[in-house]
Amino acid sequence: MTTTIAIDRRTVTRLSLPQKVRGRYRAIKTTVAAILLTLFFATPWLRWDRGAHLPDQAVLFDLSGRRLFIFGLEFWPQDLPIAVGALILGAFGLFYATTLAGRVWCGFTCPQTVWTDLFYGVDRLCERLVGRGSIKSKVLRNVIWIAVAVLTGFGFAAYFNDAITFPIALVTGAAPIGAYVTIGVLTLTTWLLAGYARERVCLHMCPWPRFQAALLDRDSLVVTYQKWRGEPRGKKKAPIRTDLLGLSSLVREAAAFDDGRGDCIDCYRCVSVCPTGVDIREGLQMGCIGCGLCIDACDEIMTKVDRPKGLIRFDVEGSETRRGIKQPGLNLLRPKSILYALLCLLALGGMAYGITSMDNVMVEVEPQRNPPFIQLSDGAVRNDYTLRLAHRLGAFDGVRISSSGIPGAVLRLGSTDDAGMPHIDATVGETRQISDRLFVVVPAGQIPAGRAAFRIIFSDPLSGTELATVDTYFWGPDQ
Ligand code: SF4
Ligand code: SF4
Repeated sequence: MTTTIAIDRRTVTRLSLPQKVRGRYRAIKTTVAAILLTLFFATPWLRWDRGAHLPDQAVLFDLSGRRLFIFGLEFWPQDLPIAVGALILGAFGLFYATTLAGRVWCGFTCPQTVWTDLFYGVDRLCERLVGRGSIKSKVLRNVIWIAVAVLTGFGFAAYFNDAITFPIALVTGAAPIGAYVTIGVLTLTTWLLAGYARERVCLHMCPWPRFQAALLDRDSLVVTYQKWRGEPRGKKKAPIRTDLLGLSSLVREAAAFDDGRGDCIDCYRCVSVCPTGVDIREGLQMGCIGCGLCIDACDEIMTKVDRPKGLIRFDVEGSETRRGIKQPGLNLLRPKSILYALLCLLALGGMAYGITSMDNVMVEVEPQRNPPFIQLSDGAVRNDYTLRLAHRLGAFDGVRISSSGIPGAVLRLGSTDDAGMPHIDATVGETRQISDRLFVVVPAGQIPAGRAAFRIIFSDPLSGTELATVDTYFWGPDQ
């Protein structure tokens, strides 16, 4: 399959598979991708002992229990501000990285980049095994792509299920239907996006390049072609690998400059390794994801033609005027980067505060309003509530539930046949959750008219310490 890429009024036709390259940025990309893929696939298999009746998966989104376990921490829906803090931290972290070094997120860590790179690796493997462009090669690469895509879907779904028993549950049909749907959707999207859409996602679908320009300034490092060195480009006329009496370097310098040309030999190697087909010599472009592969490619060429490396490099805008051979470092001390660093620290501080001050007992009491009340045969009135209680305390086996605001009110849990009492002692157990119906009965003669404010109190039965209160309403007939 061939792809046609327009480059500065010229058209270059190349295989859709970018050429392979070796070098510093290639090594960084491979290392980062290996770490991220290992983290993604291995994390659900890590164990964390939380006691006999709680899941021992270190990172688990427990959808049925509406909680998220991350090692020793347990998050509930009401901890949403902490998740918002994490999102803010992620956003400002991304802004910070972009301000310092351009689209490093896109080039090195974005899942689209990582999986596309993995799929390129499969392409190259198939080429080696069965040759390029044959039907056999196409079939083989699709089979491997789909296998990787299925594994990706499984890897993602394993965060929501017990990873160890999940494969058996999937095969025997015992897994929840959502797991099959998730794996199916992830398989399809991974196969299409990383196998076929590839760089088109970066060029046409992703919104990030559209506003990243606003984050760059004249101190941001971006992949830059050193025009002052490279132009006028063209094939070298004089042989530049000469060695005379140890004066080789001088001869090489002279030969290179004598023909009036710059260092760029117009070999197009930088374009042929680029995953998005960009010719960086035409300046910074939206298609450039900042992966640095063209730097490696050009450095290879510069070594071959005996010129200094760095014709393409991470540099600041305006490096043309500076004309230095030395590559500048990251400029951390400037207002924009300091501001983003401070905002990251602020978000981190907010998250740390949120985690250390989380409520350890969560209670939801939801009134059942259809009907709002039930008149009993002895004239008493009953209101029904849905009760959900969860805690994340170490040793805590029971809770006392009582009420205030309506004299004579008695309580009963729907799962018991006990008589109503002014307070009830409920067992929480090792699952650390209660999910039940709560009945509140007010005897005849003490029933409020219409809606009356009413408080339900949850306390430790041993120490009497109040753990949580819920303000709700009790409905009686209009009088
Ligand atoms: S790899 Fe270097 S020398 Fe070759 S075309 Fe690109 S910039 Fe010029
Ligand atoms: S131009 Fe260079 S840095 Fe930009 S995407 Fe292409 S290879 Fe990567």
